[in-house]
Amino acid sequence: MLPIYLSLKKRTREYIVKIGIQQIRMANTIQGQRTVVKDIEDKEGRHCKTCRKTLSVDLFYKRKNGRCELVCKKCRSRKRDKEHRKYKQKFIYHLANFIDIKCSRCGYNRNFSALDFHHKGKKTYSIAREIRNLTQSSFKENGKVDLLTEEILNNCEILCANCHREHHTKYFMKLKKKD
Ligand SMILES: [Zn+2]
Ligand SMILES: [Zn+2]
Ligand SMILES: [Zn+2]
Repeated sequence: MLPIYLSLKKRTREYIVKIGIQQIRMANTIQGQRTVVKDIEDKEGRHCKTCRKTLSVDLFYKRKNGRCELVCKKCRSRKRDKEHRKYKQKFIYHLANFIDIKCSRCGYNRNFSALDFHHKGKKTYSIAREIRNLTQSSFKENGKVDLLTEEILNNCEILCANCHREHHTKYFMKLKKKD
């Protein structure tokens, strides 16, 4: 008869080995199932959770683990566009609390997409690109939105696309040749 603590130690070790084997078996089964699912999907296509169509696998983006995403590329980009519009509008409402959103030279203010943030000093980053990549969490205090607002108020001039282009190109067209 082993001393009680030794037998306990032995049993614990056996238990750990047993659990280890179970985990390996389980992993193998899951791996096997994944391979089968992947083979079927490669042949018959994959079901998109959003449009509910079964589409060829190359119409899906791949995740890091090599598997397809749950929604197809088209549904994914549609969803992204929708979110982009939502956060852009939210940002406009926010910015409008601090500044008149219009071209500072001609007053144009019909379409936000036709307005540029021209950096008066050195351009550190693209405001437009940051606005394109806003998410829900950008709106929390001291988040991206606060940073962007500060940058716009301190270092930028809002110009419409025409006035902006004019600002950077000093050449004005002549329509008639002077004699
Ligand atoms: Zn879809
Ligand atoms: Zn303008
Ligand atoms: Zn500029």
